[in-house]
Amino acid sequence: MKSKGYAALSENGKFEPYAFERREVGTKDVALDILYGGICHSDIHQVRGEWGPALFPMVPGHEIVGRVTSIGGSVSKFAIGDLIGIGVFIDSCRTCKNCLVGLQQYCLNGMTGTYNGYERDGTTVAMGGYSNNFVINEDYAVHVPANLPLEGVAPLMCAGITLYSPLKHWNAGPGKKVAIMGLGGLGHMGLKFAAALGAHVTVLSHSPTKRADALSMGAHDFVVMDSDEAFAGLKRNFDLILNTVSADMPIAKYLDLVAVDGALVMIGLPNEPLTVSVGSLIGSRRTLSGSMIGGIPELQEMLEFCGIHNIVSEVEVIKPEYINEAYDRTVASDVKYRFVIDSSAY
Ligand code: NAP
Ligand code: ZN
Repeated sequence: MKSKGYAALSENGKFEPYAFERREVGTKDVALDILYGGICHSDIHQVRGEWGPALFPMVPGHEIVGRVTSIGGSVSKFAIGDLIGIGVFIDSCRTCKNCLVGLQQYCLNGMTGTYNGYERDGTTVAMGGYSNNFVINEDYAVHVPANLPLEGVAPLMCAGITLYSPLKHWNAGPGKKVAIMGLGGLGHMGLKFAAALGAHVTVLSHSPTKRADALSMGAHDFVVMDSDEAFAGLKRNFDLILNTVSADMPIAKYLDLVAVDGALVMIGLPNEPLTVSVGSLIGSRRTLSGSMIGGIPELQEMLEFCGIHNIVSEVEVIKPEYINEAYDRTVASDVKYRFVIDSSAY
């Protein structure tokens, strides 16, 4: 199947229009026209070689929403015309104990990423969502509620699920104090979900200009973490802190803000290993943990939650030729709050 998109041709190379082929629709596949594709900071890390050597040309993009255009003979989950969402992986081994319970993101044999890797056949380079169409096995795609604005749905497929999953796992809800570190693409979704789940939500930010937005998205508090006083006032305060920042942060100081039996969950991936005081963990029975996206059943559950609560991402819709600038602005924390590419413009 012919595809048109934008690719980075080399590490730190600029994005350019790029034509390529996808496989034809197999018996269990669905083909879709992509309507919107989000730009995740993980795309930037990979294009810029921050996570090690990458595969070029690279068509990134793992926040995909589209409409089904054709289906294989054995497809039962989708019909032509359905809205469909695709996230960070397009397949997994399906047989390990994690896949069997719907935790495909933790597949013991490695999930198959939506781009910057090989498909299950081991030879085809996976091409992502900065493009006009896609082909995927139906088991790794989800249904999108019809009542949501689709440009705001695309980021749910990574930013959304990545925050929804730990909030559910650590039981965010009424009576719980949740903090979100970083009000970016992921962070603003965490804020919306935590508020909808009934938790008391505080945004811990390094951008004073985001205060009004945070409050309008449901934050009860917004604290700029630029002083010792800011930290001192929040000691042992939070049941759950979700850290969406990839910059190296003073994690020991944030750990001190976790209440007894609370957790600090790493979601952004810093470059350097962390040093933490074990005394800080022991002293308050704290947990330092991590979390990665979510599995297919939880992805579907999250979208239904979004449909009920009218939750979508705040987006700036852009044309593909703006991708290069969008990358620079995202790195500068200057995006409100996710760039989404209008896929009809390729
Ligand atoms: P983003 O939109 O760039 O947001 C990151 C936010 O972090 C910024 O908006 C900013 O918020 C804060 N920040 C940035 N630089 C900072 C600095 N130097 N010091 C302090 N705060 C800083 O990125 P994103 O798309 O949300 O992704 C965030 C991270 O999560 C990335 O590393 C990405 O690769 C990772 N990720 C992880 C998963 C997973 O499954 N675990 C999934 C997707 C993405 P403020 O302006 O409010 O401070
Ligand atoms: Zn992502």
